[in-house]
Amino acid sequence: MVERINPQFLKLNKLRTIQVNLGDMCNQSCEHCHVQAGPAGRKVMSRLVMSKIIDFLGRRRGLIVDITGGCPELNPDFKFFLDNTCEPASALMVRTNLTVLLEPGMDWVPGWYSEHRVILIASLPCYTGENVDRQRGRGVFKKSIAALKMLNELGYGVDDRLELNLVYNPGADFLPGLQDQLQADYRKELSENYGVRFNGLFTITNAPIGRFRQFLEANGKLEQYLQLLTENFNPDAAENIMCRNLVSVDYAGLLYNCDFNQALGLPIIDTAGNSVTIEQLEDVLSDGLEIITGEHCFCCTAGAGSSCTGSLVKIENTYT
Ligand code: SF4
Ligand code: SF4
Repeated sequence: MVERINPQFLKLNKLRTIQVNLGDMCNQSCEHCHVQAGPAGRKVMSRLVMSKIIDFLGRRRGLIVDITGGCPELNPDFKFFLDNTCEPASALMVRTNLTVLLEPGMDWVPGWYSEHRVILIASLPCYTGENVDRQRGRGVFKKSIAALKMLNELGYGVDDRLELNLVYNPGADFLPGLQDQLQADYRKELSENYGVRFNGLFTITNAPIGRFRQFLEANGKLEQYLQLLTENFNPDAAENIMCRNLVSVDYAGLLYNCDFNQALGLPIIDTAGNSVTIEQLEDVLSDGLEIITGEHCFCCTAGAGSSCTGSLVKIENTYT
């Protein structure tokens, strides 16, 4: 369907962001996790692979570096990576699950973030404890609020130079509500009930992969959810899919169009049909980089669209 709109949408337009997945270790095991991360995660990016990414960033200065996982803070070489990417990057973003900031050995992390003005993107799928704990585990909401308050005290969400964005994703098989409206609700509820402040809210549609797909299958809802995504296909969102400006790198240095393709094992391939690594990124960029799509892509193009930085277009109405 995307191809019928404009074939140009299925090629990288201009590389702006390198998204780096440091591995699948996590202190949580959330129900909707598309990378199936957890405490037993064994895919951990090594310092060698990090060094290759750092070399690439040194040659291509000025890219946004978006660091994710699993829980990126749990990579044993996380500080090495941060120390070496903040200078060549135009902006450093870290996707944090918040609760990890309260774990032993993480005391240095919030201070490092604020000192280097790291943009934080923090998961908080609802402003009620009940919903968050159902999706992310018992006690997660209380810890998340404690971490948010600590970040506010450092200036995050308060000082203009320290950006703190929250991430909402639906608790089940429905599309997110309108981002602006949800953001206003979050602002009111978190401020009135907990005194928590933040900059923006990103609404992200659940991809029908990983643990969320297992949930859909177990409840006989997979077909219905795929239909919901396709029925709400929005060509304006398709024009803005994030993979037109982003490349994702996995723990072993292999390249993908996005984190979803990474979770599905759909790497970028070169003109000879071989998967490529970070060392070959410059070559594939000059050859023109095709986007590999599948049914999961409809999660990016439904309604107002969805990306790692929230909805893609403004729309007036909510979805069916
Ligand atoms: S969704 Fe995030 S916090 Fe939850 S298990 Fe996955 S990586 Fe960890
Ligand atoms: S799932 Fe990935 S490849 Fe597919 S449209 Fe979304 S960002 Fe692009």
